[in-house]
Amino acid sequence: MSKKILITGGTGYIGSHTAVELLQKNYEVFLVDNFSNSHSSVLQGIKKITSKEPHFTKLELTDKEAVAAYFEDHHDLDAVIHFAALKAVGESVEKPLLYYYNNIVSLLLLLENMIAYNIPYLVFSSSCTVYGEPDKLPIKETAPIKPALSPYGNTKQISEEIILDLAKVQENFSAILLRYFNPIGAHPSGFIGELPIGIPNNLVPYITQTAAGVRDVLHIFGDDYDTPDGTCIRDYIHVVDLARAHIAALERLLNNENETSCEIFNIGTGRGHSVLEIVHTFEKVNNMILPYVIDDRREGDVEKVWADTNKAQKILNWKPQFSIEDALRDAWQWEKNYRGIKS
Ligand code: UDP
Repeated sequence: MSKKILITGGTGYIGSHTAVELLQKNYEVFLVDNFSNSHSSVLQGIKKITSKEPHFTKLELTDKEAVAAYFEDHHDLDAVIHFAALKAVGESVEKPLLYYYNNIVSLLLLLENMIAYNIPYLVFSSSCTVYGEPDKLPIKETAPIKPALSPYGNTKQISEEIILDLAKVQENFSAILLRYFNPIGAHPSGFIGELPIGIPNNLVPYITQTAAGVRDVLHIFGDDYDTPDGTCIRDYIHVVDLARAHIAALERLLNNENETSCEIFNIGTGRGHSVLEIVHTFEKVNNMILPYVIDDRREGDVEKVWADTNKAQKILNWKPQFSIEDALRDAWQWEKNYRGIKS
């Protein structure tokens, strides 16, 4: 019988791509989302790609009674992949209580119910934001955790600690924390992709919306950093590669191959690219000129980060298959499909 996997934030950017990969591997997939930053149309995209339908329930994960009722109805789940969270750094500075409440209460309720119903495995979406401005590059999982630069970043640190503390003492509970670097791109089919509500905070959706004419011009936040071209450097990873890392983590837990009750992996490509490199690669692979201006630095931005991915490659037996070029081509294909732009 196929294993039953719950994905919270299942219609979100990474959740939806993970749902596709799970369905294609014949898992029975249960999605929950409150649509706070996603659309129900994503469900049709998932179905178009896989010719399968995930179970879907609209659920507010901070609603204690609703979450308890959901688990009562779904007590035979085998594992949970927890994506649902608020993630806008700037907004989290403006509204810290909203971020702490939403991201922490939902995790606590989820864990409480997993324990109550004896659901033993959790894959959690953490972030390289926990490393802050790193002392050494590439960053290993053993690098020190730095004081968070935003309430959002702090919710990821606190969430990691909650899960680590629980896994230490709770029998029959194991977790894998995946620290993502910068997910970009879209499913190569063009049927699902990143669909931010309102003005995008992240670089690549801002680029694709500028290319589509939805935004006038891309603002590059600072060109006076200590990097070869002066713009910040990040480790950009194709979202399908990232989704597959979740499957690798999940299967490690389901097969009881994990060595400790809570393991941590970086998920990136191991290579850094500057903002200008991303812009120029986008222009090249999609054969267009992108209007951009250089603006002031954005508060809280780290100068450069990229991952040491050796641990994930060796232990999860996972490595990225897609290039930056693939990701930027797929991101534009998705934006065009979504907006009905003919090439
Ligand atoms: N960035 C930019 N213009 C934008 C959005 C982002 O220049 O409209 C830069 C940002 O300063 C950072 C990089 O792009 O150097 C990646 O930012 P993003 O918000 O995508 O991810 P982060 O690394 O901050 O989580």
